[in-house]
Amino acid sequence: MLNLVLFGPPGAGKGTQSEKIIASYGLTHLSTGDLFRKHLGEGTALGALAKGFMDQGRLVPDEVVIQMVEDKIATTKDSKGFIFDGFPRTTAQAEALDAMLSKNGMKISGMIALEVPQAILKERILERGKTSGRVDDQEEAKINTRIQVYLDETLPVAAYYERQGKFHQIVGVGKIEEIFDQIAAVIDGY
Ligand code: ADP
Repeated sequence: MLNLVLFGPPGAGKGTQSEKIIASYGLTHLSTGDLFRKHLGEGTALGALAKGFMDQGRLVPDEVVIQMVEDKIATTKDSKGFIFDGFPRTTAQAEALDAMLSKNGMKISGMIALEVPQAILKERILERGKTSGRVDDQEEAKINTRIQVYLDETLPVAAYYERQGKFHQIVGVGKIEEIFDQIAAVIDGY
């Protein structure tokens, strides 16, 4: 089984590259942002709870995210592996993920981090905001909050995987296809 963590700040291209990884490697996509947006669209209680945090660019509380991921893994049968996209976003989430995977005889194969300069992230998110319909993509102040939350709370997750010898970094600027080729080279080394 191949279980990848695709890592990087908001706007790094995790969603775009996830699609290409899925097409080539047949993995199951597990994006916590997408799962929350699905709950929002379906009007569930979980969606309502998450909305307040998401709209402000803040993190949804760990226990809520962790439970949702655990449910998703438990209900996904016969997967060749997962791409975790936008998760884990805190060290507590990373520890919980390791625990739930090992309970199921699974483990993370590696983390691939996409590195993109802040100015480019902001441009990309504002551009996406024109069509994404996402409240959190549309105001510079909210985008700044998301980048700051990433630096304060999420960046330590990279060090967590580095300590396990599982951290790989790729420059996430350039042609989508070329970035993907570099990701594929890392995956093929697992
Ligand atoms: P992006 O990577 O562009 O910020 P996501 O779709 O990954 O977008 O996340 C959107 C929002 O969903 C986040 O700002 C946060 O409020 C919430 N969210 C998604 N994943 C997590 C997570 N693992 N932990 C806490 N909150 C999360």
